[in-house]
Amino acid sequence: MKQKYDVIIVGSGVSGLYAALQFSEDIHVLVVSKRELSLSNSSLAQGGVAAVLDTDHDNFKLHIADTLIAGGYKNDLSALEVLVTEGPSDVLKLRELGVKFDSDSDGNLQMTLEGGHSRHRIAHHKDSTGREIVRQLLELVAQKPNVEMVDNTTMCSLSKDSGGGFWVGLMDDSGIHAVFAPYVILGTGGIGRVFKYTTNSAIATGDGITMAYNLGATIKNLSYIQFHPTGFAPKDASRERFLISEAVRGEGAVLRNAEGNRFVENYDYRGELAPRDVVSRIIMQEEERLGKSEFYLDITHEDADFVRNRFPMIYEKCLEEGIDMTKEWIPIYPTQHYLMGGINVDTKGRTSVPGLYAVGECSHTGIHGKNRLASNSLLEALVFSRRAATDIILNLCVNGSPAPKDEPVMPSAEGRPLRSGIRTAIRDILQECHFVRLNTEKAKEKLPEVEALIKEVYDDGIAMSKDLIEARSAATVAYIVLSEDIANAQ
Ligand SMILES: Cc1cc2nc3c(=O)[nH]c(=O)nc-3n(C[C@H](O)[C@H](O)[C@H](O)COP(=O)(O)OP(=O)(O)OC[C@H]3O[C@@H](n4cnc5c(N)ncnc54)[C@H](O)[C@@H]3O)c2cc1C
Repeated sequence: MKQKYDVIIVGSGVSGLYAALQFSEDIHVLVVSKRELSLSNSSLAQGGVAAVLDTDHDNFKLHIADTLIAGGYKNDLSALEVLVTEGPSDVLKLRELGVKFDSDSDGNLQMTLEGGHSRHRIAHHKDSTGREIVRQLLELVAQKPNVEMVDNTTMCSLSKDSGGGFWVGLMDDSGIHAVFAPYVILGTGGIGRVFKYTTNSAIATGDGITMAYNLGATIKNLSYIQFHPTGFAPKDASRERFLISEAVRGEGAVLRNAEGNRFVENYDYRGELAPRDVVSRIIMQEEERLGKSEFYLDITHEDADFVRNRFPMIYEKCLEEGIDMTKEWIPIYPTQHYLMGGINVDTKGRTSVPGLYAVGECSHTGIHGKNRLASNSLLEALVFSRRAATDIILNLCVNGSPAPKDEPVMPSAEGRPLRSGIRTAIRDILQECHFVRLNTEKAKEKLPEVEALIKEVYDDGIAMSKDLIEARSAATVAYIVLSEDIANAQ
């Protein structure tokens, strides 16, 4: 690692990697990843990427309309137009770059259908699209001589230099390093790990959002959080819940309650194919009605070979958990899945702090509105990270890459250890106040507790560690979410 780069990208998910790919060889870029480079929400994406590619049967207006309906018309229309009209060329670019999307024998992309989409417009690689995209992007970025990638390195501080640009504190096994760049792109992903049950990977702790917030960046709609009805519910009640994709219901799977009966149609005429937030709420209602929290997804009536071929990854994952989904019902329960809000950005990924950019799930472009349409998030990560990189390239051409003026002030790894149990306490609070359904009265009651935890974790006497960063992020995210819930209810 050097002490100065032109651009620091925090995150090696699809948004960070695609941004890194845009920079020419004269621009020095550092890509930082908290854990292994491929451990991210991007790698977990199953369904695919939505884009209007078959213009005989689809068009931009339909994609926009579908996204608006899913988002409750709370979407930012100008950002959405950018997403939908520019997205197809980014998906084709991925294919050109070697991403193996499923295609027919003539080489045409096989576009599939997902809930909420009125046309077949999802490009995919079996049921592991994200893993395939990350694999290829990582390979390509690794070949770029101007890009350095570091894994197992955590951004532990972010501060402005008085001459412009940012000092980033990066912590690895050897200590804390101060690194400067005039431009920083945050591609740090979502906040799933602040919740008790989530489909998100271990890195989704809201660090980028928290550091941007502490720097004064505008955060918007952090309470717009998507819950998925069918997270695999393991016997050991562990936090990470493997996603059983909507596509399984799309192929005919039905939901059953603890008594083995179907129930979704008793609440909504669309049955199992109702949007994910609706089905999640129905499950909670049914749990209340029966007083039983066991729920199942049943696809045993479909042909076993078809199920194994259509969902190889889900089939294998279920088998690892002792469930053969071709013969047995899959235990499921709603789980936190995606963040629609985040660090507010314009259509060039610019936050309200000059020089600071945010892309992908940590950002709020406004394209999703209140609820994300399936497979629009990888598209958002591609389109807006490319745009952010382009904007930075222009700025570098005009202004060059100035050196810092200040000496960096880094957090100290010396001090007393963090008290254990803080993150668990925060997860419990969010579970009570903001899990599928909101409980604003509880939020009002619990907010002072969160404020006290914030005070505790920001005490300078605590030694800097990855745990401290994540505890700060959890407390800050919970504070913003509950405050928004309370404000929205007034
Ligand atoms: C199970 C699952 C299935 C999904 N399926 C789909 C789908 O089919 N289609 C779709 O469009 N979307 C899907 N999504 C959503 C989509 O995958 C994500 O929104 C998107 O990939 C996010 O990409 P990202 O680059 O913003 O963040 P991530 O891919 O999550 O990457 C975040 C990066 O930031 C790094 N990072 C975080 N904090 C720090 C720190 N403090 N220091 C250093 N590095 C840090 C991490 O190490 C990681 O490299 C799915 C999500 C999940 C969880």
